[in-house]
Amino acid sequence: MRYISTRGSAPALDFESVTLAGLATDGGLYVPEKWPSLSQDEIAGMAGLSYVETAVRVIAPFVGDALDEDALRALCTQAYGRFEHDAVTPLVQLDHRHWLLELFHGPTLAFKDVALQLLGLLFERFLSNRDTHLTVVGATSGDTGSAAIDALAGRAKVDIFMLHPDGRVSDVQRRQMTTVLAPNVHNIAIQGDFDQAQAMVKAMFADPDFSGRFALSAVNSINWARLMAQVVYYFYAAVRLGAPHRPVAFSVPTGNFGDVFAGYVAAKMGLPVARLIVATNINDILHRALSAGDYSQGTVVPTATPSMDIQVSSNFERLLFDLNGRDAFQLAESMREFETNRAISLTTRQREGASAIFTSARVDGDDMQMAMRWACERAGQVIDPHSAIGLAAAARAEDLAAGVPIVTLATAHPAKFPDAVERATGARPALPPRVANLFEREERYTVLPATLDAVTAYIAERATPRG
Ligand SMILES: *Cc1c(COP(=O)(O)O)cnc(C)c1O
Repeated sequence: MRYISTRGSAPALDFESVTLAGLATDGGLYVPEKWPSLSQDEIAGMAGLSYVETAVRVIAPFVGDALDEDALRALCTQAYGRFEHDAVTPLVQLDHRHWLLELFHGPTLAFKDVALQLLGLLFERFLSNRDTHLTVVGATSGDTGSAAIDALAGRAKVDIFMLHPDGRVSDVQRRQMTTVLAPNVHNIAIQGDFDQAQAMVKAMFADPDFSGRFALSAVNSINWARLMAQVVYYFYAAVRLGAPHRPVAFSVPTGNFGDVFAGYVAAKMGLPVARLIVATNINDILHRALSAGDYSQGTVVPTATPSMDIQVSSNFERLLFDLNGRDAFQLAESMREFETNRAISLTTRQREGASAIFTSARVDGDDMQMAMRWACERAGQVIDPHSAIGLAAAARAEDLAAGVPIVTLATAHPAKFPDAVERATGARPALPPRVANLFEREERYTVLPATLDAVTAYIAERATPRG
């Protein structure tokens, strides 16, 4: 399998290189040259398979000859063996129509573990074949940082430098990062906000001397292998609910459009997905884009669902590319327009293509709280605020054919956001046993001023050059 850039002027890469790369050199994102497809019989044959076996079948076509089937199975077994639940991503029924797909049973309590646990192992495996040392640099508002650190701690030939805004992530989120004491993990608290941290990371990647010298790599959802790993649970859940003989709809709490794009990939591969509901909070650029063709950046308003407080959704570029007949020239042009004007309009073709599978909903704080209470009172399920945005959007999907189940992706464990859960339901969720001693563990991190010089000097002193 080969991977091409959405903007058409970066070299095509194989799976191994695309896994280790971040953004394409032309500023685009990598996608498979063509979507692999699974036949109805192959999908039917997934009935009753374990999560790991489902993963092997869904992932194999993307990996091509970079890994043989046994090697892939061994990596998936190791990655998903770290999940607390035997089903890895269990389905929970709420009522006759609504289900939750619990994606938060990994080590850091958010769905990002599903992709990053596998990505950490892929990094280690592919780096062992090369003379390269990799330096992962990222900025986090919480969940990505902890999941990436857990996945990469102690792995050979890779260092991770994670920037978070000092004092602006929750105590649980900070401690999940800063109590990992492996020598290749470097936590930096920036005296600034998330946007400043993010801007510094972008500047480091854009500096060819610096990024070349240390072989910088990214672990945010622009990384193709992350999205690939997320395609698996759409198959796993749908097959359990009767696919391929019965179509299934999904409601997805969305920020960077990574998770829901994985659902689109599943549909492209042949899974009968009746609908993908893109659920946003009041930071609603994606809802405006999908309902009115208006992809224009607003200002971020902080909410109780910080992982969705986003006004530019990187992965949306992958969808726009696919929906416009994969015309990289046109896409590069409209992305340049977006970078200048902070706004573009979707073409008629893009809008029609999107409406064939996507709908969207904007959910405010009141409706989010109502969904949390509904899940608690009617179904006995305590859910986190992000999952509640998804559930509120699912409840509005009235025009779906009768008998189509709607699966809401539950993206974080409620104990990760105890204050918001307590406000809505009156109950304070406890940390699960595997992280119960989080507040007794030793922390280690460095506070730095929000200047590029301070951060690059810190990294240059500690990172290992490419090799
Ligand atoms: C990252 C995250 C999201 C958003 O996922 P995207 O792939 O960025 O759309 C939603 N909920 C939680 C809890 C997250 O951590």
